[in-house]
Amino acid sequence: MKENGQKRLAILGATGSIGLQTLDIVRQHPELYRAEVLSAGRRVEELIALCREFRPRLAVIGRRELEPRLREALAPLGIRVASGPEALCEAAEAPDVDMVVTATVGYSGLEPTVRAIRAGKEIALANKETLVVAGEYIRRLMAEHPEAKIYPVDSEHSAVAQCLAGETPESVRRLIITASGGPFRTWDAARIAKATAADALKHPNWNMGAKITIDSATMMNKAFELIEAHYLFDIPADRIEAVVHPQSIIHSMVEFKDGAIKAQLGVPDMRLPIAYALGRSTRLGGVSEALTLEKMANLTFEAPDEAKFPCLGLARLCLERKGTTACTVNGANEIAVAAFLEGRIAFGDIFRTIAGTLERASFIAEPTFEDYVASNAESRRIAAEEIGRRGI
Ligand code: MG
Repeated sequence: MKENGQKRLAILGATGSIGLQTLDIVRQHPELYRAEVLSAGRRVEELIALCREFRPRLAVIGRRELEPRLREALAPLGIRVASGPEALCEAAEAPDVDMVVTATVGYSGLEPTVRAIRAGKEIALANKETLVVAGEYIRRLMAEHPEAKIYPVDSEHSAVAQCLAGETPESVRRLIITASGGPFRTWDAARIAKATAADALKHPNWNMGAKITIDSATMMNKAFELIEAHYLFDIPADRIEAVVHPQSIIHSMVEFKDGAIKAQLGVPDMRLPIAYALGRSTRLGGVSEALTLEKMANLTFEAPDEAKFPCLGLARLCLERKGTTACTVNGANEIAVAAFLEGRIAFGDIFRTIAGTLERASFIAEPTFEDYVASNAESRRIAAEEIGRRGI
């Protein structure tokens, strides 16, 4: 903490949806938070604009070729500039950072999170892929570094954390993770198979980045969240389930051994879970719009349809096999989603690409960090071949 009580944040992925909403909270509460480090992958002009407003000590751009542009714009302001993946890791472990907000997309979040844990940081974890890819490794690392703390930003996991506050682990019977069902919930399988990127990007309740919106349409996002919940809360996989709740008002629930169910409700606004994580599980006033009784009048629930959304079933496979399985699934999914967004494959090919990659990829039961790196690279290579083989 700075002497004036401000918590110093490193916001990794500052130009994305979660990064910008985190900065909304910093803007509203400069007495509580200061953006010490801001990073972006490739949106250099947006990063420059944010740096002009928030005046961080350090700005990091993922793409090295964009560093000169960043330097030219920020040098006159006295802001240090760096680029590339190693610079992002160094930012995550910098001594003048109190909390790291991991809001980068996909696998790229893994190493900065690992470095932040090793440096004993508080982490507001928005990058769910970190726990999906390397959940067992992250759990071991957290046990070795008890001073490091993870506060979930994902709305479902924030909801579970809020429900678990004041409870003991022995009293938990099951976690019920809610899912909106995405834009294709009411479509039939034939229509879903032919869905376009424009169709899939129309999420009914949440306004998010492109990658997670496609993951919501395939329900891969929910599969990832079941895996994330297992590693965050240490609950066996057979006691974590997904339920479709199209209104996205209940953000998740916990059932206890006496039969009670606690739920966290709120309007769909990510600033609520972000503020709860930034405040280390404490509440900040005026964060999101209040939930009216009218908005709670029609809450419905249905079982997810795994035949229509086969990606959801991959959660079970990943948690049964463990090892590098989820790392392989994640790598293939990232390649397939990028290909779908570019119009190179059909919606139904996303699952086929992942399944084809899983058949061919090697499996390591007890991976080291380097094994995850190798498994991710192998998965991406095989997925690209699978897509090429389809000849689309
Ligand atoms: Mg979520």
